[in-house]
Amino acid sequence: MIIVTREGITEEELDHIRERVEAMGLRTHVSRGEHRTVIGCVGDEGRLLHVPLTSIPGVETVHEVMKPYKLAAREFSADPTRVTVGKMDFGGTELGVIAGPCTVEGSDMLRETASRVGAAGARALRGGAFKPRTSPYSFRGLGEEGLRILAQVREDTGMPVVTEVMDTRQVELVASYADVLQVGARNMQNFALLSEVGRLRRPVLLKRGMSSTVKDFLLAAEYVMSQGNPNVILCVRGIRTFETATRNTFDLDAIPVLKQETHLPVIADPSHAAGRRPLVAPLAYAAVAAGADGLMIEVHPDPECATSDGEQSLDLNEFDALMAALRPFASAAGRTLPAPSEAVASMSV
Ligand code: PEP
Ligand code: MN
Repeated sequence: MIIVTREGITEEELDHIRERVEAMGLRTHVSRGEHRTVIGCVGDEGRLLHVPLTSIPGVETVHEVMKPYKLAAREFSADPTRVTVGKMDFGGTELGVIAGPCTVEGSDMLRETASRVGAAGARALRGGAFKPRTSPYSFRGLGEEGLRILAQVREDTGMPVVTEVMDTRQVELVASYADVLQVGARNMQNFALLSEVGRLRRPVLLKRGMSSTVKDFLLAAEYVMSQGNPNVILCVRGIRTFETATRNTFDLDAIPVLKQETHLPVIADPSHAAGRRPLVAPLAYAAVAAGADGLMIEVHPDPECATSDGEQSLDLNEFDALMAALRPFASAAGRTLPAPSEAVASMSV
């Protein structure tokens, strides 16, 4: 249930409304927007049926949220949520670009990638240290050594790092190095993991499961949020269909649907959606046009030799070209991109 308060409500009135709701055993979440404050109430709403909420001073209207997700529902927040990563906010006007290799393979390749993608306007560096691989015989990442390399490159370049956590047992370790905890498509419904990352305040990049509905996706976000972590960035990365021409089917419509359903930032990963390098740029443009708040792009200095996902990784020059070509799409969508920075470009690698 959502209580929309009157403009100019006093703190005492707000506290009183919350006390009345909490006295009935529900939890309250206050969201202060530019123009209005809403109080989200979570719990057994039946208990509020006999409370004359609209007659409490300061209450303007009361709405039931019919969706199974509450904290993630659009109505629960007065304004779109912004999730701060390093120097930028995902969910604001800037298009947030995260770029880097599928897997951290060593410090030289990561440093070179970071300085080039940062110079081109990416705001965060991605790279897997613990990799979910379909075959147990494939390279599964450098583990903690990969995390150490990410932290070192963050120190050298100033770029925040995004890396995947696959298991509840790794959360503490990964969180001791990473700025953003990625929960991958295969783990979108690992409820124990979602709850564990929910206990931290570290931003969570939650990828859509390849066979999950938008509702499942938002309920997964709800798991994280219900533990107290509001910093969730949703990432669409294509879903599995009968189509075999692409690695996944990029269901672009999920972006505007999510933007209607939730206040959380929504970014797109065209690399995993397409699975093939030439498709990454057109899907990136389409995602921006559809309203994405950001992009995650796989970039490798030598895709031919990548240990994973080389066929969908852009090389450093291709990434520069993508960022340049994105600008008109970003500005048509009312988004900004940072200017390519000579400072980062000239950093020694
Ligand atoms: C990844 O981003 O490296 C990854 C494994 O993606 P997904 O979970 O979307 O398959
Ligand atoms: Mn990958």
